[in-house]
Amino acid sequence: MYDVEKIRADFPILSRQVNGKPLTYLDNGASAQKPQMVIDAITRAYAEEYSNVHRGLHYLSNLATERYETVRGTIARFLNAADENHIVMNSGTTEGINTIAYGWAMPRLQSGDEIILSVMEHHANIVPWHFLRERQGVVLKWVETAADGSLDPQAVLDAIGPKTKLIAITQCSNVLGTIVDVKTICHEARERGVAVLVDGSQGAVHMPVDVQDIGCDFYAITGHKLYGPSSSGAIYIRPERMAEMRPFMGGGDMIKEVARDQVIYNDAPMKFEAGTPGIVQMIGLGVALDYMMDIGMENIAEHEAALKDYTTERLAGLNWVNVQGQSADKAAIFSFTLEGAAHAHDISTILDKKGVAVRAGQHCAGPLMDHLGVAATCRASFGLYNTKEEVDVLVDALELAHELFA
Ligand code: PLP
Repeated sequence: MYDVEKIRADFPILSRQVNGKPLTYLDNGASAQKPQMVIDAITRAYAEEYSNVHRGLHYLSNLATERYETVRGTIARFLNAADENHIVMNSGTTEGINTIAYGWAMPRLQSGDEIILSVMEHHANIVPWHFLRERQGVVLKWVETAADGSLDPQAVLDAIGPKTKLIAITQCSNVLGTIVDVKTICHEARERGVAVLVDGSQGAVHMPVDVQDIGCDFYAITGHKLYGPSSSGAIYIRPERMAEMRPFMGGGDMIKEVARDQVIYNDAPMKFEAGTPGIVQMIGLGVALDYMMDIGMENIAEHEAALKDYTTERLAGLNWVNVQGQSADKAAIFSFTLEGAAHAHDISTILDKKGVAVRAGQHCAGPLMDHLGVAATCRASFGLYNTKEEVDVLVDALELAHELFA
């Protein structure tokens, strides 16, 4: 039995007030709140167990290294990777995708080669590919979403041509909530010799992930959306792809030996982790992932599906709210505009007065905004601790905004 009140009690910030009202936190798509055990783990790591990792021979360095390296195994379990060495730890999805762009794609792709993207990618899964377009003439091919915001996997596969080298695609849109059938895309793309990078920044938050079953080459996650600290994250890399990669960043920790005239790199995955990492952030992420796995990803998905259905129903009752994206398969992420002239920023300001935190703007998804023909939307994005009562609070606050702007 999913005990949402017990879960809420784990998150101290949820009991605070904002603007004199109880906080209704619906900005999880941007960043999620942290349970006390993550906060405690961070404090303990700094107060009792802190040192740099990998380098020292002293007690604290060994302890910090052990705590930090344990997280690699936790991430592998979370993603069901076959081996923890298939995990490169980093500061989040942005670093993960750049690692693949610089380390795998840049040395391999030539002028005229193609990368397929969906129109609903986050800028983190667009701009690194623009670098390749600008710098080496790689062609970006865009796949549109259908009118309901869904993305037909066949449309992605149909875009594959003889020059296609990579498909870079989100598992779940941060704007529309659309869930993409990445498994079908990966399996067919593999048959055709095309690599697939899955942006799991949102997907891994809302559903169980099994990278072996999906069959992807790369799968990126970002810790702060997974109830962990900011500047933590990881990318799963299929071992054959990892063997093809060259390091993107150079520095300490990623080498075995450095001399005046040569450098010998460390073994993978360390080879892709230059410099002092986010030691404490990663330790916090490990605790957050254990927390999610203890609740159970299936249970989280079920709880959020009920929230999604309830929100869909409540918003459908407001005929002056235009919800963008009504795909049959979607996460509890709702982007909307209000009929009339009100800008998304004004709406979010009214909601904020009622203690409701939503995001307003372009959501780092410029091409999608162009495709939808809207300048900005408000986005309410739910997490494992949200409740139906909070959906009601959102709807009441929207009614107020509608009255004010009508
Ligand atoms: N991809 C998606 C779908 C996202 O929602 C986000 C964050 O909003 C990112 C990538 C980038 O994540 P980060 O800024 O943590 O690197």
